[in-house]
Amino acid sequence: MIKYFDIHSHLDFPEYGPDFDNIIENMNKVEVGTITVGTDLESANRAVALAEKYENVWACIGIHPADNHNEIWNEEEFEKLVKRPKVVAIGECGLDFFRLPTNELTGEPDLEKITIEKARQQELFEKQIQFAIKHDKTLMIHCRDVKNSNLVYEETYKTLKKYKLENPALRIHLHFFAGDLEIAKKFLELDCTFSFTGVITFANQYDEVIKFLPLEKIMSETDAPFVAPVPYRGKRNEPAYVLEVIKKLAELKGISIEELTAQIAKNVERIFLK
Ligand SMILES: [Zn+2]
Repeated sequence: MIKYFDIHSHLDFPEYGPDFDNIIENMNKVEVGTITVGTDLESANRAVALAEKYENVWACIGIHPADNHNEIWNEEEFEKLVKRPKVVAIGECGLDFFRLPTNELTGEPDLEKITIEKARQQELFEKQIQFAIKHDKTLMIHCRDVKNSNLVYEETYKTLKKYKLENPALRIHLHFFAGDLEIAKKFLELDCTFSFTGVITFANQYDEVIKFLPLEKIMSETDAPFVAPVPYRGKRNEPAYVLEVIKKLAELKGISIEELTAQIAKNVERIFLK
């Protein structure tokens, strides 16, 4: 039985060790299902293996924009993986300007290296968009910028808009959405869906966007093992804690937890598990 969804976790990460069975047991106890996200080819292979082992786990396969700078898109290997039945999404892919190259001596931004890095990320991103279109899989988008900047979202939007116009059936999900209301409205025009993590239980800068978004565009996630919600803050996160995220989302939307839970389940079915 699955009642609640955590649409973005990293169950293959080294933070989960010998006690991994407890993580699955806790998920079963609270009736949580999750999509575990591989961040490079090796991680994607582990994600698929976990999805095939556990009924309430699905897999997302791809290459994170900034986690592994040495890996290039290996179409042949991902072609093999995408055919496995529990693979539901491609990513997490996108753009990450949080840690762009700096000069080793001065600490100032290294403009030449930044240009190369942005081009690398853009190419990797577009390969995965094309792959998702080819296989009719949902795109799991990762976007991260330096504080108080929308630049990464603007650039991501430009790229996604181009592909969405050519491929109206493309499904786009923005994981850990941290953009402002203005950019959220633009992504809504592309029919995107959005998910939020445990950060919303201890920071209020996401409240405005969450209150604004239509219910059928919202999903819950943990991004476990990172960003555990209150009251687990600072500890290793796990999918079972998604309940705390859902509670906070329901509070912000002014509806009951039951109503929101049912709506999120519908959204996950429509976007990921179709
Ligand atoms: Zn992630």
